[in-house]
Amino acid sequence: MKTSLSLEQLKEAAMQYGTPLYVYDAEKIVSQYQHLLSHFSSQTTRFFYACKSLTNIHILNVIKNAGCNIDCSSINEVKLAIHVGFLPNNILYTSNSVGFDEIIEAVQLGINVNIDSLSNLEKFGAKYGSAYPVGVRIRPNVMAGGNLKISTGHDKSKFGIPVTQLDELKTIQEKYNITITTLHIHTGSEIKDVHIFMQSAEVFEKMLDQFPAVQVLDFGGGFKVPYKPDETGTDIAALGNAVDAFMQRMIAKTGRALIAWFEPGKYLVSEAGFFIAQVNVLKQSGETIFAGINTGLNHLIRPMFYDAYHHILNISNPGAQLKNYAVVGNICETDTFAWDRPIATIHEGDFIMFLNAGAYGYEMASNYNARFKPAQVLFETGVSKLISRRDEFEDLLNLQVPLTK
Ligand SMILES: *Cc1c(COP(=O)(O)O)cnc(C)c1O
Repeated sequence: MKTSLSLEQLKEAAMQYGTPLYVYDAEKIVSQYQHLLSHFSSQTTRFFYACKSLTNIHILNVIKNAGCNIDCSSINEVKLAIHVGFLPNNILYTSNSVGFDEIIEAVQLGINVNIDSLSNLEKFGAKYGSAYPVGVRIRPNVMAGGNLKISTGHDKSKFGIPVTQLDELKTIQEKYNITITTLHIHTGSEIKDVHIFMQSAEVFEKMLDQFPAVQVLDFGGGFKVPYKPDETGTDIAALGNAVDAFMQRMIAKTGRALIAWFEPGKYLVSEAGFFIAQVNVLKQSGETIFAGINTGLNHLIRPMFYDAYHHILNISNPGAQLKNYAVVGNICETDTFAWDRPIATIHEGDFIMFLNAGAYGYEMASNYNARFKPAQVLFETGVSKLISRRDEFEDLLNLQVPLTK
């Protein structure tokens, strides 16, 4: 567990703030960003945090203060970024299937925009012509990423303008004289292989001639981080070398001041987050021991949604003998977090902690079964603070129109 937080601090946070609880380590977020910076040329690279992975404004503030830019997936994320004080030039909106009204709003806010359909590009051209530089998201038709559900660049994916439609893209660009300054490709999440990123590079290289205003090659996000104890993530040093060399070659070849952009989400926050729950019941059933905990897929949906693995520690009793457990939630659905998982012997009341809970954990949480969303806590320089409170009963009624008596 490479974090500045000790198990003792995490356990104390669980006791102080109650469970279930999301806990984040600001230092880890910053060190992940600095690790990226250290392996890419500062001249030719910019990073935009894909904030859909975790949008709490205190987290966004840590990211902003570290000097990182921000990538948004909805106009509301853009507004959160502005609320936190990101400058328009440091905000990128990579939309997909959005109504054109959101793109108009993004232009009014003066931020960077990537468009992902010919339809919206046509509307964009008709409204703005060459007046507002814009990016286009290309679907390269390559299979990449941890599994099909988190792959976005293959030939059945909804994302991007298919690379087979470049002629149509070019026709629209010329018709309205659109200033296309960015080519964008994001092929999926949990991409370990540097070669996959370089496939995007090949697509960019083929397109550069046809798009003379392009200055930015946006490789998207999707760096793999280790989830299992014996896993390794994307080799950032190797990726940095390969991309730097490619950029130098493209700059020499085109004579343009090209720059590479990346949109890491998981890479910045996944390992910086911990999700702590408490064991309500132990239930023996044949060979299986169920550990039923005080949370469920409403708070951490990744195992059921993507078959994601989250490493689980018993932080109340970390040194105890390992035993196999099925860790299950309290929701009226089959919400299995882990099956046949060796964990230090569990007693009812123990604190159970999920690793890699920073990205797409709280962010995908819901009130399903009318349960409260958990609180979130951020550690900065050894001190914890609440960054969003647990729901209360009134929160379940807040948006509902009262019954008339
Ligand atoms: C989700 C997303 C990312 C971030 O993906 P990670 O796997 O979290 O790094 C980056 N860019 C775009 C366009 C995305 O949709």
